[in-house]
Amino acid sequence: ATPMAVMVGTGLGATHGILFKNAGALEDATKLDVIVFDKTGTLTMGQPRVVEVVAAAGRTEDEVLWTAAAVERGSDHPLALAIVERAEGFDVPETRAFLNLEGKGARAEIEGETVFLGNRRLMDEEKIELGALAEEAERLKGAGRTVVHVARGGRILGLVAIADAPRPSAKAAVTKLRERGVEVAMLTGDNEGTAKRIASELGIEIVLADVLPGQKADKVKELQAQGKRVGMVGDGVNDAPALTQADVGFAIGAGTDVAMESADVVLMRSDPYDIVGAIELSRATLRKMH
Ligand code: ADP
Ligand code: MG
Repeated sequence: ATPMAVMVGTGLGATHGILFKNAGALEDATKLDVIVFDKTGTLTMGQPRVVEVVAAAGRTEDEVLWTAAAVERGSDHPLALAIVERAEGFDVPETRAFLNLEGKGARAEIEGETVFLGNRRLMDEEKIELGALAEEAERLKGAGRTVVHVARGGRILGLVAIADAPRPSAKAAVTKLRERGVEVAMLTGDNEGTAKRIASELGIEIVLADVLPGQKADKVKELQAQGKRVGMVGDGVNDAPALTQADVGFAIGAGTDVAMESADVVLMRSDPYDIVGAIELSRATLRKMH
């Protein structure tokens, strides 16, 4: 490897906000078979907002919203921030015994009753019957919404539907990668219905959904066990082990410090299309070296 070509390549990347941390990454980026994108904050803006609230029979939408907000005040999850923001101006009650349930949701107590909130898996684990809201939840997931289920005292109270817009260049990045012969996958802790809908909008065929934070790296390992060289793109703390496991880890610049430390390449502009730029740059650099 000629150090001169690598210097020119990394320097050129840097002027475009693509920071290769080492020469190895520049070389490895030429050989990737599949790029795995984290969904929330990577393919999407990571700025979710509440778009619909559904109340169970005999409940009100306001009650669903302030109950959810009461619990989410204890959380710094992006979905929690969206719910708290939407409940601004409501008289939100005090909670006790807040507990974050990683990859699933959260719980807390209000007036001696336990409130559980989060995904379908959490409701199933807590044996909470959704009744007529099961169909509503499916409808919302089919529209690409992330559904937060809210239950109090063992009964479903309602649903909060949250939308997170795709980053503007996400679809073009996917199209270009596939043209270049690179497979594209989505990896997310979100449910399969929501993930598949967003994936199909972006042209992504491989969807790995319902993945708990601790399992993201294992999914990368499974792809590698199939003989594939894997690039992983992520923004969150929960992506860090997968970024390390991947043959090349790419971090979104607007993401967390932990993700950026774990990555081999940092995309300063937080633009998914810069993945294409990174791969093209690495291929051009390597051609000059041989
Ligand atoms: P992602 O991989 O999309 O960043 P996480 O692993 O953080 O997701 O969470 C996975 C899923 O668990 C979320 O899509 C959501 O359904 C649920 N969840 C986690 N934390 C919360 C929370 N504080 N409030 C509501 N739902 C949550
Ligand atoms: Mg994320």
